[in-house]
Amino acid sequence: MSKNLLILGGSGALGSEIITLFKNKGWKTISIDFRDNTKSDISISITSTNASELHRVEEILKSTNTKADTIVCAAGGWVGGNAADEGYLGSVQKMIDMNLYSAFGTAFLGSKFLNENGLLVLTGANAALQPTSFMIAYGATKAATHHLIKSLAQPDSGLPNNSTTVGILPITLDTPINRTAMPNSNFDDWTPLSDIANKLYEWSSIPESRPTGGSLLSIITKNKVTTYTPQ
Ligand code: NAD
Repeated sequence: MSKNLLILGGSGALGSEIITLFKNKGWKTISIDFRDNTKSDISISITSTNASELHRVEEILKSTNTKADTIVCAAGGWVGGNAADEGYLGSVQKMIDMNLYSAFGTAFLGSKFLNENGLLVLTGANAALQPTSFMIAYGATKAATHHLIKSLAQPDSGLPNNSTTVGILPITLDTPINRTAMPNSNFDDWTPLSDIANKLYEWSSIPESRPTGGSLLSIITKNKVTTYTPQ
């Protein structure tokens, strides 16, 4: 029987890459995002990660008898700026919606649809291990995601028995948007999306290869070599 990948943010740069790789490996993929991912076996388009939209997703997944072996949150967004910025309050709301509600929503879906022995992966950010005064809302919502990851790894978190929750903390992903925004950077120190997709596939298909539950893994790429270092 084929295995299933459920991914929130499946239309983004990282999410699409993960979907393509898992599909190539014979997994069935379910993408949930604001935009459809037409390459995914199932694509559910949502308007928000509020309670009513998540319950709608829950009904769709229940009615199709869908469970997942791996659930990933690759959703998120970035806004810079400090507390004195004109757009500060708007950016706080945006970062809560994109980074935090997506992570909480993924945890909700994990509690309902992750199989026993399954893998749940949430995406934090390496930068949020330290204060981030120049991108206050982004850093705070990613730091809260790190806390959520550790809480979900506790035995009474509501996730299924023997499942594993880990956090991946990228620095800079090698995406088309980043290349356009920072054209003079050293791309050899950016993390190729395929590196992360392959690592998630390894953890998904070989349970013994998974990091300890609750791990926050800094993804560091230097000279085209990527390492996953627990914090
Ligand atoms: P991306 O912007 O290409 O894709 C993010 C996707 O998430 C988009 O398709 C967007 O529609 C979707 N999304 C946003 N909020 C959502 C929500 N609440 N519910 C459902 N879908 C939602 O981002 P990316 O570059 O692929 O980054 C993937 C993850 O890695 C994100 O969590 C991001 O914060 C994190 N990250 C990225 C970088 C980087 O350099 N790009 C660095 C550190 C961390």
